[in-house]
Amino acid sequence: MKNGYLSQWAQNVSPSPTLAVDAKAKALKAAGEDVCGFGAGEPDFDTPSFLKDACAEALAEGKTKYAPAAGLPDLRAGLAEQYAANGVLAEATPSQVVVSPGGKYSCYLAILATCGPGDEVIIPAPYWVSYPEMVKLAGASSKIVFAGDDQGFKVTPDQIEEALSPSTRMLILNSPSNPTGCLYQRQEMEAIVELACKHDFLIMSDEIYEYLLYDGADHHRPASFGPEAADRVITVSGFSKTFSMTGWRLGTLVANPTIAKAVADLQSQTTSNATTFAQYGALAAIRNWDRAIGAVHEMLVHFDRRRLKLLEGLESIDGVTCQRAQGAFYLFPNISSFGLSSEEFSSRLLDDLKVAVVSGHAFGAEGYVRLSYATSDEIIEKGLSRFAEFCSKI
Ligand SMILES: *Cc1c(COP(=O)(O)O)cnc(C)c1O
Repeated sequence: MKNGYLSQWAQNVSPSPTLAVDAKAKALKAAGEDVCGFGAGEPDFDTPSFLKDACAEALAEGKTKYAPAAGLPDLRAGLAEQYAANGVLAEATPSQVVVSPGGKYSCYLAILATCGPGDEVIIPAPYWVSYPEMVKLAGASSKIVFAGDDQGFKVTPDQIEEALSPSTRMLILNSPSNPTGCLYQRQEMEAIVELACKHDFLIMSDEIYEYLLYDGADHHRPASFGPEAADRVITVSGFSKTFSMTGWRLGTLVANPTIAKAVADLQSQTTSNATTFAQYGALAAIRNWDRAIGAVHEMLVHFDRRRLKLLEGLESIDGVTCQRAQGAFYLFPNISSFGLSSEEFSSRLLDDLKVAVVSGHAFGAEGYVRLSYATSDEIIEKGLSRFAEFCSKI
């Protein structure tokens, strides 16, 4: 059988390296090894119980059937109101909101609905591992623009302008970022949106970490910078990271009416609706927003303490430097001084000292590794001392 009859798409797609590291660490742990896992791409807290209760209630009430493909009308209306309040929508128009089975799928549909063969998508690196693969699956091509720690992992308007071509269709932004935790300031974001308007390209703004912020930092939504910005920015988010609901699979997307309808149509022919009773859990968050955000603030107290502990620990290791990330739950230290590739560094760290981190290579950033602090203080302390021991022996 030639290629096992695999399509061109299936032959070219790579499996998610972050999920792979996590799986390897979990397998080692299951085999009795004392692993310090910094690979996780999800919060380690339980979902707030009142959201679980709302979902269980919906299940008990028999809300177990198909829902409209683009989401429960009440949930879309609630989200639309929220997006109108924070300036992403000019008015609360539920038809511009699509609820999907996960922020990841929202990203994929945003790309699939707007990019195809012949189109170029500018992806700032370090990038979330799935973006280039999604662009490939849409038949479009990626143009990677690198921003290292010397520029706070943020691309400049000049860099974007240099990467533009007549085929540029979209720029992907992810602030706060996975893997770096970096956050674009308002002026930085405004300058990029201005470029999008001037050169007529779309922005997909992945805001999945919008509520996980530290040091009093603010999150800026590019779609809220005026009507033209709202027209060309596709805002993607979801419930996974904010409310520790990764397994629920609930993402959101807001776009202009034409794109939102195309996304809803694509979804109606591929997955249909996100799980009906799960959406009732999300609806409880939207309807009891203060309570829901209160639960997030409790998680943030722990995240912030761990962030500072991990940051301080990494910075105290000779040869390691680390940016003070202000969002998400990752740090992205520079380990290039040790003369090992990121792949070698991370695989030896796991093999020799049982510390799981993700190689920067996976994010298009050689010379760095990603550590998630969505783990206990105890693991952070133990992992840091092993990390330091490893570095001192290279
Ligand atoms: C986790 C993540 C997502 C989507 O998560 P879902 O679980 O699919 O909602 C999207 N973008 C980034 C950058 C992420 O880290």
